[in-house]
Amino acid sequence: MAKESSKEQRSRIMASIRSSNTTPEIKIRKILYNHGYRYRLNVKKLPTSPDIAISKYKTAILINGCFWHYHGCHISHLPKSNREFWQNKIKRNLERDKLGVSKLLTLGWRVLIIWECAINGKKKLDSDTLINQIKAFIHSTQIKLAIEGNINES
Ligand SMILES: [Zn+2]
Repeated sequence: MAKESSKEQRSRIMASIRSSNTTPEIKIRKILYNHGYRYRLNVKKLPTSPDIAISKYKTAILINGCFWHYHGCHISHLPKSNREFWQNKIKRNLERDKLGVSKLLTLGWRVLIIWECAINGKKKLDSDTLINQIKAFIHSTQIKLAIEGNINES
């Protein structure tokens, strides 16, 4: 069999990363729903098409895959091959993120970023801690917050 081209390899890696990113979103939706919040999903009318938008509290929730948005945590390591490709791609993602968040804030939306490592993996927060942090933000006057995995635990 012919050796996999680097292009094929890249799309395979991308596909595997993408599919593993759907679960954190579903978990957050369930938690919010169970706590009585009503929201819209992937709101195309808003900058960055937030994963979840709670109009009542003008809160946009972005669930960031630690790899795609380069969180720098234990699950965001770059693949060993094609480093330059990944670095450029992720750099573009980060620039887009930054711009999108500032556009949302300009429109008067508050932005809650939930990193994947807060939801999945060895440093995830337990669901009570997670919902308490989410609720605290929703009902606060803060305009921006990021929730991430437990950095104190090794
Ligand atoms: Zn992370």
